[in-house]
Amino acid sequence: MRPEILYQLFSPVSKLTGIGPRLTALIEKLAGPNIIDLAWHLPSGLVTRQQVTSLTPDLIDQNVIVTLRVDQHQPSRNRRVPYRIQCHAGDSPLTLTFFNGREGYLRQQLPEGQERIVSGKLEEYAGDYQITHPDHIATNETAATIPTFEPVYPLTAGVTNATFLKAARQFLAMLPDLPEWNDASLVTREGWKSWKDSLIEAHSPTTEVDFDRSTPARARLAYDELLANQLALELVRRSMKRKPGRSLVGKGEVREKVRAALPFTLTAAQNNALKEIEDDMAGPHRMLRLLQGDVGSGKTVVALLAMAQAVEAGAQATIMAPTEILAHQHFNAIEPLATEAGLKCLLITGRLKGKKRTEVLAELECGAVDLVVGTHALFQEDVRFHDLGLAIIDEQHRFGVHQRLALSAKGRDGNGGVDVLVMTATPIPRTLALTAYGDMDVSIIAEKPPGRKPVDTRAIDLARLDAVAEGLKRKLAAGERIYWVCPLVEESQVLDVAAAEERFTTLQHLYGEQVGLIHGRLKADEKDATMRRFMAGEIKILVATTVIEVGVDVPEATVMIIEHAERFGLAQLHQLRGRVGRGGLEGTCLLLYSGPLSETQKARLGILRETEDGFRIAEEDLRLRGAGELLGTRQSGLPEFKVADLHAHSRLLTIARDDARLILEKDRKLDGKRGKALKTLLYLFERDSAIKYLSG
Ligand code: ADP
Ligand code: MG
Repeated sequence: MRPEILYQLFSPVSKLTGIGPRLTALIEKLAGPNIIDLAWHLPSGLVTRQQVTSLTPDLIDQNVIVTLRVDQHQPSRNRRVPYRIQCHAGDSPLTLTFFNGREGYLRQQLPEGQERIVSGKLEEYAGDYQITHPDHIATNETAATIPTFEPVYPLTAGVTNATFLKAARQFLAMLPDLPEWNDASLVTREGWKSWKDSLIEAHSPTTEVDFDRSTPARARLAYDELLANQLALELVRRSMKRKPGRSLVGKGEVREKVRAALPFTLTAAQNNALKEIEDDMAGPHRMLRLLQGDVGSGKTVVALLAMAQAVEAGAQATIMAPTEILAHQHFNAIEPLATEAGLKCLLITGRLKGKKRTEVLAELECGAVDLVVGTHALFQEDVRFHDLGLAIIDEQHRFGVHQRLALSAKGRDGNGGVDVLVMTATPIPRTLALTAYGDMDVSIIAEKPPGRKPVDTRAIDLARLDAVAEGLKRKLAAGERIYWVCPLVEESQVLDVAAAEERFTTLQHLYGEQVGLIHGRLKADEKDATMRRFMAGEIKILVATTVIEVGVDVPEATVMIIEHAERFGLAQLHQLRGRVGRGGLEGTCLLLYSGPLSETQKARLGILRETEDGFRIAEEDLRLRGAGELLGTRQSGLPEFKVADLHAHSRLLTIARDDARLILEKDRKLDGKRGKALKTLLYLFERDSAIKYLSG
């Protein structure tokens, strides 16, 4: 239950004076539904006003607060002519100008013959002083409401800064004094104020420096948020570890057979990762581990060897892929090796139906099957294992964090027990891994198998598209295959598809039947069918929107062409590039850009040309585009931070992680004085779903 002290902050924004139904809808979209969401919506700019008594030329272009007398209204008869009001400020004539001004309203605000105080940017127009759309109009009594320093908020159409400011004044006045949850020595060392004072300060900038993310006020708020995040993850992690796991130990005989059947030996990086997984599986607690490795780093064999260990221990193992094609691909890679090692391996996808399905499920349930490769279909209720010991989830950013644990519920006692290994090909910078996967241990395959040639990466102006298209003849003659990826059109799948269709037509003109098209609007089995034809070589050029299956292996594919590469994230481009040059043939990646490029865009494409180190690329992407872009916020279940910035606040994140661990070591149930304050913190940042793990 949310503590009473937070009730007001978690009431709807419509509770604030001046926020009616129309504004409520707009503000909900802008910041969020509750008053607390407005508090996290920090200003991004500042207007500094000078209080002046007379107007002088040096004030032009400055923001002023000035007392004036209203002389005469000049309403406009024509839409193109503004409504003007002639006034005097001291001895100087001053015109107030309004486009589309409403006469009734303006006459009420600025009655002729009366004195008013207005603020706005002073301009010169036709030799006269002018203020267009004053941002504040006050009487002598209300003059003090015009701020000298006015924070400027990120806004949306229909919400003015004055509106937001009025709301801000109200919520800042209702902030409760919350008990301090931070360690006193940290607060002193960093020079922080209380939560409340920091929030007030962050909303009351007086210089440009106050927008720096490292000001004590903003840093403190960011730290609070990171601590809430780390504490929540640590609670989940501890609760997982407390659950009785099982020790999956084997003698190694099956693993030996698998290794013997491999046409290569494992790299040191693969062996290291595998060792961590093996030890974790053998330990008494349950494993919850993330295996990171760039495309082509060889995660599949590592997965297979881990599964072999589960079987040695007398259990079953499963690996789940996000799509039908990927499941098939895994099955094709794993099944021959498994068979050679004497293991029975089956495939379960949505296509498995009828009598065959009944048979397969029966074999699974009685324990005649050792390994199962599958898709989401594995989640179905009638899929019952005899004794599932290890669940592996591949390419998990497609699955979402909530599904992470759903598979493990297929274990024998319905809950605990099953070891979970998540594999991802998206290199995740350490900061991001901490916040998104902080509940998991991490293994990394940092090096690729030997003999891989770097992909020849080039940036080419889109204007040379015809030449690029012509140039494919040579590649086709050599029996190679080509991906042609079309631009992502922001927020419009329709336009995406149109662009891909247009390119498809151009290429079909040149290469006829050899060209195929795949995009997000096709049904899953249509996509599958086209993908299969490409794999089989019936199609040689595959035009696609970014729906190309991330993990699909087509050894003959050597060329990756990406149109409007400047619109993609670096990590995404890197992933796409990883699709080619996998079969020992040299790969080429052409980044077609629409020039002229900005310096940043040039630098970004330059990084891709320079390096194939996925981690370095991911770090750059995080710096340049932010976390949500990198993993795809919605798909990844990545926490969205309101104040913290993973790049700017990475130092604080490390402190928060250590802090969270220490806190729970000392006060497992958060019962102590600081513990109670920390519970409030979890509610404040809406990480309260973690609180249920306190009881367990
Ligand atoms: P990913 O990590 O992208 O899933 P895969 O497991 O699909 O990578 O491996 C990519 C390719 O590299 C496969 O063809 C696999 O057989 C091969 N491979 C894996 N490990 C090694 C190794 N140690 N030496 C040589 N080739 C390897
Ligand atoms: Mg893979």
